[in-house]
Amino acid sequence: MIDFRNIRVLAFDADDTLWDCQSHFESVENHLYRLIAPYCDNPAHELFMTESGNMADLGYGCKAFTISIIETALRVAGDHLSAEELSDLLSDSKSLLHLPATPLPEVKETLQRLQAWPYRLAVFTKGELQDQENKLHRSGLAKYFSHVEITSNKTEVEFQQLCEHLDILPEHLLMIGNSLKSDIAPALNIGASAIHIPFHVTWQLEHSEDIEHERLVKITHFNEILKLL
Ligand SMILES: [Mg+2]
Repeated sequence: MIDFRNIRVLAFDADDTLWDCQSHFESVENHLYRLIAPYCDNPAHELFMTESGNMADLGYGCKAFTISIIETALRVAGDHLSAEELSDLLSDSKSLLHLPATPLPEVKETLQRLQAWPYRLAVFTKGELQDQENKLHRSGLAKYFSHVEITSNKTEVEFQQLCEHLDILPEHLLMIGNSLKSDIAPALNIGASAIHIPFHVTWQLEHSEDIEHERLVKITHFNEILKLL
């Protein structure tokens, strides 16, 4: 059971929690899969292998994804693809830098109402600094948050640092996000509480076993946060 009287900071994940991100990435993935499908058995696995191999050096985000997309196309089907096909794939990947970041249903209204409540609101997201900042700006939601933290990864270490930067104990933090792996599990592991809002698609590197925990609540609509608090 989450002790909501203890909560001081609500930290929100951004991609696929505040706005739709993954479905735009999936559209580019499908573009790649169409190109390389004649030359391999499992296009999704080929991309997964490239992304996994690049993770330690490139991390998360659009630029890392773009490199992995082009690298996979070249590795699997480089001899068969024209410069024009590769150029189109590159443009499609780079268009993710301008995805609309339109707030998901109920997000804006809920944040608006939460402003009147005695909680500090934070964004805690992993990815590329400029891209994440740009999306937050485009979403029109930046004004609702008093703290924005963008990190290369979201593990227990970064969650501890978030608490230090906010000058709170883990028990004062409530993390809200769509990824069990990077939003929920590490928050629970450091002693914080969490609300899981699943998104309809999950990136394969974020797949995780389901979690049951006394400090975790699962909801399906963003505005259920208001009822819980
Ligand atoms: Mg997310």
